[in-house]
Amino acid sequence: IEQSAYQNDKLAMLGKIAAAIAHEIRNPLTSIRGFIQLLRPHLAQLGKDEYARIVIDEIDRANDIIYEFLNSSKPSTPNKKKIVVGDLLKEVTLLFESEAILKGCDIELDPVDPAMTICVDVKQMKQALLNIVKNSLDAVGGSDRTERGMIRISAHQQGAKAMISVQDNGTGMDFHTQSKLFDPFFTTKMEGTGLGLAVCYRIIKNHGGNIQVDSEVGDGTRFKITMPLC
Ligand code: ADP
Repeated sequence: IEQSAYQNDKLAMLGKIAAAIAHEIRNPLTSIRGFIQLLRPHLAQLGKDEYARIVIDEIDRANDIIYEFLNSSKPSTPNKKKIVVGDLLKEVTLLFESEAILKGCDIELDPVDPAMTICVDVKQMKQALLNIVKNSLDAVGGSDRTERGMIRISAHQQGAKAMISVQDNGTGMDFHTQSKLFDPFFTTKMEGTGLGLAVCYRIIKNHGGNIQVDSEVGDGTRFKITMPLC
């Protein structure tokens, strides 16, 4: 399944909108933050310093969200570093451990050859993998699933490439969903954005890699990512 230029245009457009909104919202946030700082001593005299602290913390949080959103939608040149594939996958697996326990599913990382390295922007690559594993967690988590949820992550060398696989025994996807899943804004979830896999696709392509999906309704899904070795 190839992503068309049209889909890339949509992501580029989203990046521009996000940048414009971020710019317009950051300015008022900065002045609100400044004025609260000025008011702080007065609020402290009234015994209300706690309120000022909350306002400042919340402004900082809003700024962080804008920054994160901007980062995820704006294409950026990868800042490549050599990383051991197993280490990257271990970190991603660890990040989902608590969520997996809460959902009553297993997330397993097969042993990976420690000599296998790829040259990638670690932050971007981590984000791409997080988006994929997050979807697997959503797919195995439904209350209608009788089988215990299982997500298996593995990596093997394939010629001059590293092949990373994320496999789940979740809901699976019909053909229509499979043909649309990398489209920006395509989602089948009540609260989905449809951005996860579009961003993932762009990151992987930017690194000279590839992403493929095998899926069967009721059986599960497997994403295969190939990345050039270092
Ligand atoms: P979102 O998660 O916000 O819906 P994504 O771009 O990450 O956006 O995913 C798009 C759609 O692809 C999802 O709504 C879902 O229908 C489908 N999908 C992705 N991964 C899986 C998976 N592992 N199992 C089943 N469906 C999936």
